[in-house]
Amino acid sequence: MTDRTPDPDHPGEIAELRRKLAAAEAAAKASAESLAEVSHEIRTPMGAIISMADLLLDTRLDETQKTYAETLRRSATGLVSILSDILDNSKLEAGRLELNMAAFSPRDLMQDLKTTYAAACSESGLYLVVQADPAIPEQVRGDVARIRRVLSNIIDNAIKFTEEGSVIVTLSDGGEHDGKTVLEFCVRDTGIGMSAEAVGKLYSSYTQADPTISERFGGTGLGLSIARKLVRKMGGEIECESSPGRGTTFRVSIPLAPATDETARRSVDAPRPDVTRTKQDTGRIRILVVEDNRINQMLITTYLGKFGYDYDVAPNGEEALRAIDRTGYDLILMDIQMPGMDGMEATRRIRKLDGPAARLPIIALTANAMQGDRECYLAAGMDDYISKPIIAATLYGKIDAALAESAARDTGTG
Ligand code: MN
Repeated sequence: MTDRTPDPDHPGEIAELRRKLAAAEAAAKASAESLAEVSHEIRTPMGAIISMADLLLDTRLDETQKTYAETLRRSATGLVSILSDILDNSKLEAGRLELNMAAFSPRDLMQDLKTTYAAACSESGLYLVVQADPAIPEQVRGDVARIRRVLSNIIDNAIKFTEEGSVIVTLSDGGEHDGKTVLEFCVRDTGIGMSAEAVGKLYSSYTQADPTISERFGGTGLGLSIARKLVRKMGGEIECESSPGRGTTFRVSIPLAPATDETARRSVDAPRPDVTRTKQDTGRIRILVVEDNRINQMLITTYLGKFGYDYDVAPNGEEALRAIDRTGYDLILMDIQMPGMDGMEATRRIRKLDGPAARLPIIALTANAMQGDRECYLAAGMDDYISKPIIAATLYGKIDAALAESAARDTGTG
């Protein structure tokens, strides 16, 4: 590569440079895509590590063992969030990032942040305040997981760089913008602060030139750069005010549409038939787990056992079809990627069976919850999906909802 401007008298040279530029762009895109794939591969075992730590923490441990297991869990969770940053960054670079918009409660998000950071703050002797203005809407539509990650990124650092004093997280109503409510999150700490020059460099990727910043936002060097890209992708903005020795304030404002009646209603407790009771007459609920990965098999069946369900395991689609032929199940948990017959094909075949088995509720288990995947799963005949890593509460909630829906459907059709 040279810094020379192309010579207009040699059009061949310009064409050559154009060709090189196109090749470089294609290479960048391909590398971003393979990075996205690798991140997915890493997330599956990371999810298993977190889940195993959860299971371990649920056993009898002495204080020392408990501390070890908690550190293991915290470190693994931290690593997953770094992976999410890398994955999102590669998707942004490839122009492939889609927001996962859904109804959520901003107040619940604040409560969740409070629960998450209460222990870390009290360990460091910091005063943590988390407050939401009562005027903010009950429900809005947004990518809550990404909003949470942006805020976590800022709060983690606020705690890390505050020796004494407080970390205050507030949420207020920032007014209307194009029919949307602007949510204003503010994270204020009484920590070491940063110079104006350091603040100016905060958002550049991989900035490690300034020791204050590399110390403060070390690691991948992606934290705030990706946070700002994500916030801007949501149509919002992130601002920082800081001075050395006086603390730092971050303001994140994001315009969010109100949740529609339909989505809002879904999250409110709707009257549901008591599935557990109706099932007690005919025996316990039996679930077929179709999953090839041994760790996931063990994890899911351990959870199912804890929830009080009976289960069988099939390692692929063929085995699943044979198992369904032999035994009556109430629900199927279906992995997507399996050797032999995969989850999509197995689901299509189950839906074509004769008799009641064709109507079994099927929940997909997937490592790639990309935009558009949901539609594919539903098109193949699945009722719902759970993305890995599998969280106990999500697994329970989805199974419960699917069983309730299928019970209601059966009652409805007689
Ligand atoms: Mn699999």
